Amino acid sequence: MANYETHEHDVIVVGAGGAGLRAAIEASSQGLSVGLVCKSLLGKAHTVMAEGGIAAALANVDAQDGWETHFKDTMNGGKMLNNWRMAQLHAQEAPDRVRELERWGAVFDRTKEGRILQRAFGGHKWKRLCHVGDRTGLEMIRTLQDRGVHQGINVYMECTISKLLKDGERISGAFGYFREDGRYVLFKTKAVVLATGGVGKIYPVTSNSWEYTADGHALAYEAGADLIDMEFVQFHPTGMVWPPGVRGLLVTEGVRGEGGILRNSKGDRFMWKYLPEATKHEFAADEKEAQEWVSATLEGRKSEARRPPELSTRDNVARAIYTEVKEGRGTEHGGVFLDISYLDADRVKKKLPSMYHQFKDLADVDITAGPMEVGPTCHYIMGGVRVDADTAESLVPGLFAAGECAGGMHGANRLGGNSLSDLVVFGRRAGAGAAEYAKKLGASQPTVHERDIDAAVEELEAPLSRTGGKNPYDVQKKMHEIMSTYVGIFRDEKDMETGIAKLEELKKDIAEVGVAGSKLYNPGWHLCRDLKNMIVAAEAIARSAHSRKESRGAHSRLDYPNTDKEKWGKVNTSCSKDGDKMKLEHTALPTMPDDLRAFFEQKEPAHA
Ligand SMILES: Cc1cc2nc3c(=O)[nH]c(=O)nc-3n(C[C@H](O)[C@H](O)[C@H](O)COP(=O)(O)OP(=O)(O)OC[C@H]3O[C@@H](n4cnc5c(N)ncnc54)[C@H](O)[C@@H]3O)c2cc1C
Repeated sequence: MANYETHEHDVIVVGAGGAGLRAAIEASSQGLSVGLVCKSLLGKAHTVMAEGGIAAALANVDAQDGWETHFKDTMNGGKMLNNWRMAQLHAQEAPDRVRELERWGAVFDRTKEGRILQRAFGGHKWKRLCHVGDRTGLEMIRTLQDRGVHQGINVYMECTISKLLKDGERISGAFGYFREDGRYVLFKTKAVVLATGGVGKIYPVTSNSWEYTADGHALAYEAGADLIDMEFVQFHPTGMVWPPGVRGLLVTEGVRGEGGILRNSKGDRFMWKYLPEATKHEFAADEKEAQEWVSATLEGRKSEARRPPELSTRDNVARAIYTEVKEGRGTEHGGVFLDISYLDADRVKKKLPSMYHQFKDLADVDITAGPMEVGPTCHYIMGGVRVDADTAESLVPGLFAAGECAGGMHGANRLGGNSLSDLVVFGRRAGAGAAEYAKKLGASQPTVHERDIDAAVEELEAPLSRTGGKNPYDVQKKMHEIMSTYVGIFRDEKDMETGIAKLEELKKDIAEVGVAGSKLYNPGWHLCRDLKNMIVAAEAIARSAHSRKESRGAHSRLDYPNTDKEKWGKVNTSCSKDGDKMKLEHTALPTMPDDLRAFFEQKEPAHA
């Protein structure tokens, strides 16, 4: 029998980013005992890296804004594949969640009148992103942490959950290990909220940190939940391309929101060429109008000028940059130029301090004096655990999910700023859902079965006893090659078939990974476990992408370049575990009620 320590809580939240912290705060505010488990140190979650801002229709800068327009922009951005109810709740509740953050101590940038300042972002019709320079995530995490810690949440840091435990169909616990010394830990609980973030580390060029290894996606899948819309992986248009050590690091959309201009190596401002016909009317017609929009924004004055073409949605800008480079109009290092140096240097440093330092320190480029080189980077996954919109519960009783590891909210493409708002809206709802579920169970604690713990330990220890096993780093490199070559920004049937076959082969390698040394400070051993999670997401992405025979949002097929409203616009892809196989289905989208559908028939929704 394995040695492990045991803790018992009503609710366990896995992940201490924005979604996990907000869920934990909510569940604990209802008088429940809550354990918050995170793989890194508290305060290091991915959310801390968020730069541009949090989207909420406060209408502080553009008075015309309202939740209806935010809802409409989100659905249009997601190419109508979003779960409409999630998009509605998100747009309606985001303003309250932002005001709540402010009440709890977040210090946002201000308008001249002292209200929360909002900036423009791609796909948002009005200036909607509340921000703290380009360090919004840091301020948000600081605020939520303060709140959570003072509320008495129990935090377990540097602890990785490797298995969810069940009593029959329902959740009974979570098992894992502490990363420093590999000691095992069992959390007995009534409900688990997964808030583990994304999957970026399955691609070689990514803005994501080491923590994004698809853990929540895989934990939920293994426990019997299904993963929806996994084909929709967002490649952010602007990551750093040089030097190689920082390739993929994010260049916030805030740069374009502040007036950044994209040009190819010939000096052409190319984005006008790539605006979809349907949205062209929303953008400035020429350089003069775009410049007037920037000047009016800088001076804080009203203007009829429409926004510059660089503020098209991310999927569109990423494809545009990819195409410019592929057709030979890229820069020396395989990107394009993003220029904000025509603005006053002090303003650039004030509004984009992290970007200024990032380029100065890492690439020796002064962005106030010249352009940056940028290119697409894997940034975000729209797909994730299928949840109920109101409670965030998955198909497994007692298992909830929120934040980037949950699916549905963003459809085929996420708008910038809509993740931070998603975290607090649905983090709160997941915490409330889990608390209600745990309260209903009352004193009846589900049983944890010793045989399940033994199996979890055996699985973790296998690579340590496998002499001459495959090197996990080599295996991850192979995964990178497969995903970037066969399931990248542009996809086609043959490539994906090859990719899926190669992933099947890779599964065999993953089953044979081995690592030297002990459990003490052993990142190679951690990677052995992470690979098991990443392969679930990689396979779900490849199979879902292969099955969707159209192009939509972040999913671009060379062999099916059109969007098919009638067939594919009506279904989500769904992956679930069927013995040793992954089952893929197409399930009907929830039907949007007529009053909301009407928004898409009128020019601009009326709002209160
Ligand atoms: C550079 C960058 C800038 C961004 N800027 C913006 C922006 O301006 N606006 C916006 O809306 N969005 C932005 N995003 C996206 C947004 O930051 C993320 O989608 C969001 O922060 C995800 O939050 P989360 O709570 O779901 O997960 P995270 O904040 O990543 O937290 C995940 C947590 O799960 C823990 N975890 C993972 N696996 C396990 C496990 N097995 N066991 C225990 N713990 C585990 C991790 O340790 C971590 O605590 C940005 C993303 C990046 C990369």
